[in-house]
Amino acid sequence: MSAASVPGRADSASSPGFPLTGPALTGPALTGPALTGPALTGLALARGDVDRAGHRRVDESWLEAAWADPATRVVAVERGQALVAFSDQDAGLAFSAPAQAPDGVRFLLGIDSGGRAYFGVAGPLSGPAGPGLRPASLREAGPLLSDRDAGLLTHAVALANWHETFTHCPRCGAPTEPIASGHARKCPVDGSEHFPRVDPAMIVLVTDPADRALLARNAQWPPGRVSILAGFVEAGESAEQAVAREVAEETGISVSAVTYLGSQPWPMPQSLMLGFRALAGHADIRVDAHEIAEANWYSRAELATAVAAGRIRLPPPVSIAHRIIESWYGSELPGSW
Ligand SMILES: [Zn+2]
Repeated sequence: MSAASVPGRADSASSPGFPLTGPALTGPALTGPALTGPALTGLALARGDVDRAGHRRVDESWLEAAWADPATRVVAVERGQALVAFSDQDAGLAFSAPAQAPDGVRFLLGIDSGGRAYFGVAGPLSGPAGPGLRPASLREAGPLLSDRDAGLLTHAVALANWHETFTHCPRCGAPTEPIASGHARKCPVDGSEHFPRVDPAMIVLVTDPADRALLARNAQWPPGRVSILAGFVEAGESAEQAVAREVAEETGISVSAVTYLGSQPWPMPQSLMLGFRALAGHADIRVDAHEIAEANWYSRAELATAVAAGRIRLPPPVSIAHRIIESWYGSELPGSW
């Protein structure tokens, strides 16, 4: 993965977040890039106000009672989509009661402050059809959902994607079975336990000495689509090492002052996006034509002009890329979504 296909919107003055502050943790003989800086909060898919209640996942009698309670709410997820009720301004998950939920792998998503339990089910979408009610993905519905619903759907999609893909034991090949209310799987043959897989990926806004932003087009993308650089963290590598490596590989630029901004789950199918900024020591770009079709520096005025003229298209508000670019730009990004 390069120039990010990643994501959402952080309007939400009201969004709960976990601001990151403070000094960085580095070695006394630091040889890698150091981390500093302020945080990015309210990311569209990094919200949620439901207690995950991890201790209840193995409490079978509590789980049985919660599933029997008609006040419990269930969201079904199929191929990354859930039924969503759209209105003019926002959207809400269309829950069902447990009795109306489809068959499928079931997972406890959590308990709200009023004591109501929420479950996800990896199963076919069904239920009442109505005006504004239709299947939707996180990409589409994520920024429009409330904190509660955005958190629930992100959690449910991540687990549903994992259960759909990781069905067999990596040690012996036997089919595994869900345990811990869908938060793990166990092999009935060798007893090994397996947990949801999350692939960390870094995404970084690089600026040059003139404070211009580096935007690139992935070789797989249509003309005009651009974003900041991104890539998966490799085995045995720190996130900040991945930042320095990917930027160097893709553009020939060496970076310093790597600053962590925040993270957002991107379960399409299983990434965690770690957002950064970094400074380029020079403005010369040597594009790796294999992964990146083009990369260019943009001042804020040049960015606005290029978007208005239709020469470039920025990533959508659901993406952390959008939020990172916006934090540099200083106000709402030009373009329409
Ligand atoms: Zn096994």
